[in-house]
Amino acid sequence: MDDSSEHLLAIILDTNLTSVVANGDEVGPVLDAILVFCNAHLMASTSNMLCLIVAHADQNRPLFPPEAEDAHAQGHYELFSQSCADIVRQLKDMMEETPPGSHTSAPMAAGLAMSLCFINRISRERPPQVRLQKRVLVVTAHGTVAAQYMDFMNVFFTAQKLAIQVDACVLGQESGVLQQGADITGGICLRTPHARGLLQYLLWVFLPFGEQRQKLALPEPPVVDYRAACFCHRQLVSVGFVCSVCLSIFCKFAPICSTCHTVFKVKGMSLPKPTKRKRAKHGL
Ligand SMILES: [Zn+2]
Ligand SMILES: [Zn+2]
Repeated sequence: MDDSSEHLLAIILDTNLTSVVANGDEVGPVLDAILVFCNAHLMASTSNMLCLIVAHADQNRPLFPPEAEDAHAQGHYELFSQSCADIVRQLKDMMEETPPGSHTSAPMAAGLAMSLCFINRISRERPPQVRLQKRVLVVTAHGTVAAQYMDFMNVFFTAQKLAIQVDACVLGQESGVLQQGADITGGICLRTPHARGLLQYLLWVFLPFGEQRQKLALPEPPVVDYRAACFCHRQLVSVGFVCSVCLSIFCKFAPICSTCHTVFKVKGMSLPKPTKRKRAKHGL
């Protein structure tokens, strides 16, 4: 491993993975795999850092590093092994408070934004000579996150600008939005068919960083579903209408763009009057 660089990994865990996270009193196979994976990442090097955020119901909660502790006071590995029991307890509390299933999708895009803020803060705190490799891993069972399409896209382009790779490990159905995110930021989006094999996939595909990853024989990247979501219904569309001014996408033709209020001229159609917008008067 290249000793001159540090590796910072942020994991967003979508707890709508439901029963797989907690199974009665036992920790479910998914959470088990995530905890082992976190340990493996932190054990690989003493300088490796970790951030674990849980997207549950309508909130995102950072579970690691714990707020009270100074993240740099001690190695993340020791801190994580001490916090493991606490992380599991907090997750179970969250599950009991709001049982999964009552909400269709957790605010994962916001969780991603939160992780980018964390990574950005850590990178500012590091001395400039340290080469910090940054990565975000999303673990979710929700293939369809089209409702948060715009938020996801904003986060992906921010990540691309900050040179942060976004990886996604999707259990169950494929996710077009996360595939796009991985493609934009140079990460990997992998669908794992079973929760049981999750740890193997995590250790094989998602443990190696940057240059190490390029040396591996990885699964073939999926054909990216590059459909965009319309601004009116947040549904993925193959063919749609695009506003020529602000590039908003609509699945149905509308004479006025709902984003920038531009009125489109169409032959043979009586047009509604444009909405008047207040403009600041300049005394010229
Ligand atoms: Zn629409
Ligand atoms: Zn427009």
